[in-house]
Amino acid sequence: MFARSTTESPYRISPRWLLAMAAIIVIGFSAICGSVLLSMRQGDEKLAHQTLGNLAVSIDADIARNIELYDLSLRAVVSSMMLPEVAAASKPMRQLILFDHAATARHFGAIQVMDTAGNVTIDSATLEPKPQNFADDEFFKVHKRDPLFGLYISKPTLHDGAYGIVLSRRIAARDGTFLGVVSGFMRYSYFHEMIDRLQLEQDDMITVLRQDGVVIVRAPFDMDVIGKDVSGMRGVQKALASFSGSYVGHATNDEIQRLYVWREGTHPLIVMVGRSTDAIFGQWRHDALRIAGAMGALGLIACGVMLVLAREMRKRAAVEDQMARLAMTDSLTGLSNRRHFDAILEKEWRRALRSRTPLALLMIDADHFKAFNDTFGHQAGDLVLSGIAWSIARHAQRASDCAARYGGEEFALILPEMSLAEAIELGERIRIEVGALERDGMATTTVSVGAASLEPSARTTIGHLIKAADGALYAAKARGRNQTFPAAPQQKRLAA
Ligand code: GH3
Ligand code: MG
Ligand code: MG
Repeated sequence: MFARSTTESPYRISPRWLLAMAAIIVIGFSAICGSVLLSMRQGDEKLAHQTLGNLAVSIDADIARNIELYDLSLRAVVSSMMLPEVAAASKPMRQLILFDHAATARHFGAIQVMDTAGNVTIDSATLEPKPQNFADDEFFKVHKRDPLFGLYISKPTLHDGAYGIVLSRRIAARDGTFLGVVSGFMRYSYFHEMIDRLQLEQDDMITVLRQDGVVIVRAPFDMDVIGKDVSGMRGVQKALASFSGSYVGHATNDEIQRLYVWREGTHPLIVMVGRSTDAIFGQWRHDALRIAGAMGALGLIACGVMLVLAREMRKRAAVEDQMARLAMTDSLTGLSNRRHFDAILEKEWRRALRSRTPLALLMIDADHFKAFNDTFGHQAGDLVLSGIAWSIARHAQRASDCAARYGGEEFALILPEMSLAEAIELGERIRIEVGALERDGMATTTVSVGAASLEPSARTTIGHLIKAADGALYAAKARGRNQTFPAAPQQKRLAA
């Protein structure tokens, strides 16, 4: 109805688009940052697995080597005991035969031989062993009961005033008859010394388990756990079931969460090494917090800047729209101004040419307006012009209609797809309505209307249409004003 906007740029960046881009950038950066942090964490985890795995392997190798060494001495005693010469030999001679190659490392105790009743009969440390009986000890019972049990490793136990583990083997005759047991003692000091040599982190935990889940060694040393059967624990069950692996969990006696790793080792013992997840991921957490904090702050700043920018853009766009509207609007009447009229007429002309439809134009001019001004003053004249504009705008109801102030007291109404008859009828309605407008109970002014309708063709131009409508208006004036007149016949012919 009033000025239609034709100047809005289709390429203008909308604030919503800007905010969407900001969101995409922030989300994108966060995703990149997140994936970098994740791979950093995975790197730390992998390194911890490697380090703990290597530690488990080296502890296992050390223990296995020492046990094997000691076991060789026990095996030598077992095989020598079967020789009849040994029984017949003198005590010093027997001592020499049995323990000549026996391992005598600092942490190994005396090797003792027990008879079928569990009484110590031979001791590598002395020719005259003191009376001792091990018939009730687990290791003795195991060998007595099970002829196929090889090397037996006892639970940690107190032996001759020292704490340690008993390694034992069955002595049997060639026909398998139980002849007794040979035992050796491995002092706990060996484990302490070996673990002290390792470079460990605070809260690291080393656990050496027997195949049945009994804890043989535990660092840090804990009497409450040593010798206990922990095979019921979830992580231990996993360790007993698979040669190598890992799990994250808590120990029985503290609340520290650790990553436990064990590797395929030389049996009969399993070494598990645990490191607290705080120690593994501590540095990573610190870095992640710093990077995430910095990213978060930057993201917030970026969002804030974008919001301010978007608000400014919205304001600017509103001002631009307002200015664009003003640039094509006539300030007195609110109708399209001449410039906008020209642009719309041009556009509708092209559209009508394409669609082969008629384009109608009404030219409306106030009658004797100079006289009205002279009588009632310019301000009253302005009010009347506004009234005429209101009436014209009211009748330009379709979206494609365009009412404009053509100049001074002259108006134009573009009516796409309208025949001359329809245009005349509309012109008449406007003319009648304007004629009925009153001011202080008095009639104001009348209008004369020139109507033309043309179907654009290659032979016609906009000029023809304007000239036709203008001519019709001129004719209406000449015929006495206050009337609607169609374009002259020869101009009408152009519509054909
Ligand atoms: P006619 O019937 O032949 O059109 O006579 P007219 O007096 O209306 O025509 P003319 O062209 O002689 O005079 C036009 C007058 O319109 C002159 C001018 O004072 C008046 N006019 C033009 N623009 C405005 C305006 O914006 N406000 C007012 N109040 N008057 C205007
Ligand atoms: Mg006039
Ligand atoms: Mg005029």
